[in-house]
Amino acid sequence: MVRRSFLLLLLSLILQVDAANSRRPTRSAPVSYTDLGAWAKANGYRTSQERDSKELNLTNRASRLIFRAQAQRMSLDGLDVRLTAPVRQVGNSFLIASRDVETLLNPILNPPRRTARNPIRTIAISAGHGGKDPGHVEGRHQEKRYTLLLARNLQRQLIGAGFKVILIRDVDAFIDLDDRPARAAKSKADLFVSLHFNGFEGPGARQVSGAETYCLTPAGASSTNDTGNNGGGSYPGNRFNSDNIVLAHEIHRAIVEGTPLPDRGLRRARFRELTLLKMPGVLVEGGYMTHPTDAASIYLVEGRTRLARAITDGILSYKRLVERKR
Ligand SMILES: [Zn+2]
Repeated sequence: MVRRSFLLLLLSLILQVDAANSRRPTRSAPVSYTDLGAWAKANGYRTSQERDSKELNLTNRASRLIFRAQAQRMSLDGLDVRLTAPVRQVGNSFLIASRDVETLLNPILNPPRRTARNPIRTIAISAGHGGKDPGHVEGRHQEKRYTLLLARNLQRQLIGAGFKVILIRDVDAFIDLDDRPARAAKSKADLFVSLHFNGFEGPGARQVSGAETYCLTPAGASSTNDTGNNGGGSYPGNRFNSDNIVLAHEIHRAIVEGTPLPDRGLRRARFRELTLLKMPGVLVEGGYMTHPTDAASIYLVEGRTRLARAITDGILSYKRLVERKR
């Protein structure tokens, strides 16, 4: 075993490829890479290359991971998951940013565990926008109204599931983005869930639909919606990188399985609220107000109830994962 881990260490050192030379100069740190074949072997996955060897499939009894050459999007048990950098193909090898191994694959496939003395009890729900800030406006529909309705629905369902719930806003009032994480911390919330609905402007708007679930981008990495490599520093919320991605993954999977919303991806962003969190948290974009089918489920109580049910299911499965015994 010692010799095997030494070889793996050696291999991973050899495979630390500095990508900075092939990029435009940026503020971000060089990207180091891990060989996916070696990672698969060390973690008990079978590998196969498909589609003219442009696709690497990793399978074991529990999961199926699909990576594509030059793609920043991977498939994890059928779910659309966005990496912080594209997978590189060098000869027959597939290389993944080591940061994505550390802050995405490893925590999702082997979630962190909480101590039994520290269970998940209190959930803070942050209904997006409010007061002078209507959020996205689509005709007579204002996003702030529907985030609050969804928040109250989610509150009822979480209480029904045995949680204590803090509504960061429960009226149509403006609350500064900096104050929202502070209120959650003051209430000793264990998790933070921010609720939003999307809008897409410009040509093709009626084709863009689906749910996106965000957690905080790791330090030094680009966010999913960035153009180019923007790097980015470390924030208080980065203390919870592992829990953030596990919570986001469980909630996103539950939304894709439990609602008619198409899968727009598990994504990364440095939204102000997420950067300042003192507990794990996510931001849910529960569909596009600019899309006819999404809008119907946003504006109707049945649609919001299904979405709230799915978010509750996601929180419950996160809780089961992190509170599991060995
Ligand atoms: Zn919003």
